[in-house]
Amino acid sequence: MVNIARDFFIGLSNSDLLNKSAKKFGTRFGAERFVAGTAFDAVIPTIKELNQKQTTCTMDHLGEFVTDREEAEQAKENIIHMLHQIEKENLDCHVSIKLTQLGLDIEESFCIQNVKQILEVAREYNIFINIDMEKFIHYRRTLEILKLLRENYPNIGTVIQTYLYDAEKDVNALEDVRLRIVKGAYKEDSSVAYSSKEEIDRNFLKIVKKRLLGKAFTSIATHDHRIIDEIKKFVADHNISKNNFEFQMLYGFRVDMQRQLVKEGYQFCTYIPFGEDWFGYFMRRLAERPQNLNLLVKDALYTEDNKIKKQPFIIGTAALTLLLCLGKRKKKA
Ligand SMILES: Cc1cc2nc3c(=O)[nH]c(=O)nc-3n(C[C@H](O)[C@H](O)[C@H](O)COP(=O)(O)OP(=O)(O)OC[C@H]3O[C@@H](n4cnc5c(N)ncnc54)[C@H](O)[C@@H]3O)c2cc1C
Repeated sequence: MVNIARDFFIGLSNSDLLNKSAKKFGTRFGAERFVAGTAFDAVIPTIKELNQKQTTCTMDHLGEFVTDREEAEQAKENIIHMLHQIEKENLDCHVSIKLTQLGLDIEESFCIQNVKQILEVAREYNIFINIDMEKFIHYRRTLEILKLLRENYPNIGTVIQTYLYDAEKDVNALEDVRLRIVKGAYKEDSSVAYSSKEEIDRNFLKIVKKRLLGKAFTSIATHDHRIIDEIKKFVADHNISKNNFEFQMLYGFRVDMQRQLVKEGYQFCTYIPFGEDWFGYFMRRLAERPQNLNLLVKDALYTEDNKIKKQPFIIGTAALTLLLCLGKRKKKA
């Protein structure tokens, strides 16, 4: 059932039609729980609040798989606006970008030019830029672009997905680069990626531990308490400085655990997605954890004080449709 649900939501996340329609109508179906808003300026209070709680942030202006030049240029302008605002408002946060949002699928040189313009501004303000890792078809090119950009811009790093067989080899080649380590969010072929949770988790722990014994800064991005507990123990046993790494989690996920890690003195960074292109991101989060759907159905039908909402019909029907579709797929399998 979990795999069927995962495939279903990943399928929805890739639908061009649904992504475009969702953009027109603004965040729906409880996505506000995981997407902080549609405009950066409206998200500033959230960042300030987190900063006051000793939490840094990484900002993701949502958008990916852009095939239109103007759209990619607009995305670049939005990110540059964000950098100016971060500096002006003195926010403790850095920025996550996606190369397909900045034109990688249009023309590589165009994408690189866009990223360079972002990096120029970011370097002036001493803001770190992280390239999020997308589907495997973009993986090698992303690493090559990173290598090229690092010749002139030290303020850039990327993400390694431990479901990939190549992850360990590539992490070794990036030993002096700031990296975020994740399990991986996309559906990949068994010719390139592990599919069992055990193998992915084992690889995650192996890679993170190796990184922690090295010099470069590592962001450990997971909501998995078993992994976090094992890392905490490893750090204590090896006397590793808490300045060399941070934990990262997504906005709206395991908020109590986020606070607890801060309380325990670990550096913590919340990944904050915002913008109109929320649909693909939101569907991937449901793919990872279909149990989130229960929370969303409850959100759709009930108010915070547990009273039934006056007009739950449309949202409730949409949530119910999703559940029915899941049921249908289960019968087919
Ligand atoms: C900050 C951040 C940045 C990311 N960037 C990228 C990226 O650039 N590219 C990419 O491919 N992927 C990225 N991801 C997604 C990542 O690859 C995983 O798909 C995602 O984090 C799910 O894996 P997990 O390790 O969090 O836990 P999972 O493997 O999904 O869950 C493991 C266990 O943890 C517990 N658990 C997990 N979530 C919850 C919850 N919400 N509530 C209660 N228990 C829970 C459950 O017991 C579960 O069985 C990012 C993730 C984070 C946190």
